[in-house]
Amino acid sequence: MPGVDIKKDDNVRVISGKDRGKEGRVVRVMPLEGRVMVDGVALAKKHSRTGAQRTRTGQQLQQGGIIDVEMSVDISNVQPVCKSCGQPTRVGHRIEADGSKVRICRKCEAEL
Ligand SMILES: [Zn+2]
Repeated sequence: MPGVDIKKDDNVRVISGKDRGKEGRVVRVMPLEGRVMVDGVALAKKHSRTGAQRTRTGQQLQQGGIIDVEMSVDISNVQPVCKSCGQPTRVGHRIEADGSKVRICRKCEAEL
């Protein structure tokens, strides 16, 4: 299934598309759609139409204002950033001695 290697709260970098190079924290994973929402990435400006609205963060908006709406990005366009080597990486897996499966950096083999 696509998307199992990206988890909520991962720090990811966008590796292709118009937001290429941006980094952010994964706020939502949508495995069925194969998409993720990343904090501060893929923002779209939208006019708020009727009355005051609130953003996800609870911020009060003025009538007729322009708000930033986070759009999802394709999960294949992001890679988790390794805390050890600081590079975006493909995700590898390793089976620990106790049988648990951990995600590892393909570059330095540190646990993600
Ligand atoms: Zn690494």
